[in-house]
Amino acid sequence: MTDEVNSQGVARYIAAAQEAAGVHAAELAAMRACRFDTISVHGLYTMREAIENNQGSIIEPVYMSTSQGYRDSDQMEAALSYQVPSWAYSRIANPSLYYLEQTLALLEGYGLDVETSSCTTSSGMSAIASATDPFLAVDPTRPEAPINFVSTCQVYGGTFQQFSERKMKERGVECRWVQDATDLSEWESKIDGNTRFLYGELPSNPGQAFFDIGAVAQLAHSNELPLIVDSTVATPALLRPLAHGADIVVQSVTKTMASSGFAIVGAVISRKDLVSRFGSDEMKADFATYLKLLPNRDNGPNLSPMSAILALNDLRTLRSKIDLFSRSAMQVAEFLDSHPKVETVHYLGLPGHPLHALASRYMFLVDSEHDAQYGSPVNRYGHLLSFCVKGGAPAARTMFDAMQRIFRATDLGRVKSVATIPAISTHQQQGAEGRSLAGIAPNLVRLCVGGEHPDDIIADLAQALDAVNPEATT
Ligand SMILES: *Cc1c(COP(=O)(O)O)cnc(C)c1O
Repeated sequence: MTDEVNSQGVARYIAAAQEAAGVHAAELAAMRACRFDTISVHGLYTMREAIENNQGSIIEPVYMSTSQGYRDSDQMEAALSYQVPSWAYSRIANPSLYYLEQTLALLEGYGLDVETSSCTTSSGMSAIASATDPFLAVDPTRPEAPINFVSTCQVYGGTFQQFSERKMKERGVECRWVQDATDLSEWESKIDGNTRFLYGELPSNPGQAFFDIGAVAQLAHSNELPLIVDSTVATPALLRPLAHGADIVVQSVTKTMASSGFAIVGAVISRKDLVSRFGSDEMKADFATYLKLLPNRDNGPNLSPMSAILALNDLRTLRSKIDLFSRSAMQVAEFLDSHPKVETVHYLGLPGHPLHALASRYMFLVDSEHDAQYGSPVNRYGHLLSFCVKGGAPAARTMFDAMQRIFRATDLGRVKSVATIPAISTHQQQGAEGRSLAGIAPNLVRLCVGGEHPDDIIADLAQALDAVNPEATT
């Protein structure tokens, strides 16, 4: 009798949630019809959401709360059995995270005909672990079978460590590095019956590696494998891997997406119904939501609501910022390219870069064809570049130490220009051998151009290069 009463009560909440889902679907469809800038500004925080659920607050509130209180036991039962969406406990869900997640899913899915979903994480690294680990689980039907995955070797230093130390050494999962990611036959030769996914970073940090994402996605799918892409450097304002066939995107939102530099933030964004020969139907149907409700509930790499809203606030101007940063980076790259004390400049925007033509097929300022200023698609290559100073590591350090305005920091994506020497910082842990595998020279300087006027950045670099003794560079 009591059970019956309860189940009726639960059913009432389920019915109400279904009605709300209808409203949500209509709002989602309306926002998907809007342009990129509009999505960046509003996401799914509609006027209705503000007025009905948030005291009319025009800005998304920071829900600094661990959990939701329920009206009664029926609502609690419906929520905790995931029969209705709720903010049960902030390790699992929180309204501030939800607003960020909806915006990220919409931006990565911009122009796509399939729906996307997203799960935020405490960092870019935990986004990478979250996106990859579910595919590396033991296969219950073949518990003894070895497990491998195939990845570009030019990846962020932290990713290299996670793949080689945490996955390979600690867990016996083999990471098969692709040396030349533009060579499709090399990818193909590394795939076998025990491969779980293909992974790539593009453009890579700091090397500016790039690959034909459409062709690699096709190769992955013809082997029934998902393609996972780290798209941190491009951001969805310049490249949306899901539109080219990738199944999952990981973002260090920390970087260009949240350029103010207030917080560490990560995200996993996936397409619905992804391709994978491994994993449950539930996992493949909506990977990011699955991640949120199950593995990440259990592992707990959740984001703070404060960080979520800080990141969301930065996202609102993503497109115009990356346009500005990219144009300045282009000018800085041209300056460095013609400087006598600079050996090489790696920037995909330079016509002399071996991957310039390939990158130019993929990297466009989103909506430039709808922008009164441009009126047609324009290529933009982001604000990360790197260069080698003539005279080896000592000359690079002299130049680096002489910079007055550009911050020396292991960071990128900032509104303030920052530079680092990867060999002694971001890529120090992986050792000389790992660095040479990834093409990280000891005199390589990574520079991320910020929002300052490019003349002032160039002036700082010019005076810093002047500090290098000309004899050291010959
Ligand atoms: C910084 C970075 C990461 C790691 O992100 P965190 O937010 O620092 O954990 C991953 N991939 C790329 C390309 C990065 O630049």
